[in-house]
Amino acid sequence: MRKPIIVGNWKMNLTVPVAEKLAGDVASGYQADWADKVEVVVCPTYLQIPAMADVLSGRVGLGAQDLFWEEEGAYTGEISANMLKELGCGYVIIGHSERREYLGETNEMVGKKACAALAAGLVPIICVGESQKQREADETNEFLEKQLLAAVDSIEQADMAQVIVAYEPIWAIGSGDPASPEDAEEIASLIRETLTDKYSQAEAQQCRILYGGSAKADNIAGFIGQDNIDGALVGGASLDAKEFVGMLTSVVK
Ligand code: PEP
Repeated sequence: MRKPIIVGNWKMNLTVPVAEKLAGDVASGYQADWADKVEVVVCPTYLQIPAMADVLSGRVGLGAQDLFWEEEGAYTGEISANMLKELGCGYVIIGHSERREYLGETNEMVGKKACAALAAGLVPIICVGESQKQREADETNEFLEKQLLAAVDSIEQADMAQVIVAYEPIWAIGSGDPASPEDAEEIASLIRETLTDKYSQAEAQQCRILYGGSAKADNIAGFIGQDNIDGALVGGASLDAKEFVGMLTSVVK
């Protein structure tokens, strides 16, 4: 049984005190008896991460929005997996479409980052998703298969079960116009089949697949009710504690 997981991506938002308040509100909204039913993670900016450990009080997982694949050295501006681990992170988002689009992140870089995360004991949340143009040209499935296989290319079979894949159609991110749960399920099932072919049924069945793109409290139930969707990666709605905790409430119902 895969435990549902809801991951908040705070992106480049909030001051440290506001981030602390949001984290505290999420932690106090998360009920102790939900532990078996839903996992929750927040991914603040690097600068907010040190302030999180005490506020999240162990109930809510902590993640980063990126990392660099080398362990240390002359890589100005970068942060390694071990540095994140040292500050209490358990998860890291890799290959978000905004990084691919604005910072030129390639499939190869995404693959290296995912391996570095795993080597340090962090759970990588690998993002894949097609653009509106690819969708209109009917290239979605072919594009996603290639993107996914490139990202997991160097990941060992033994590590794959703990990897999380987030299907985030770019056109749905921040648009207020999510994919339909049925369409998202079709892609989640394609992702699982692709992983089954590359690894085995056992790994592919354990791997959690998330939907991301304008998910919120009043539509999460439709996604979570699908066979192959195990949660959501949430942008905008994760910045509002009431809305985010509302998503968790809907998942545990
Ligand atoms: C995201 O950027 O990962 C995301 C899913 O954003 P939003 O929920 O705002 O669409």
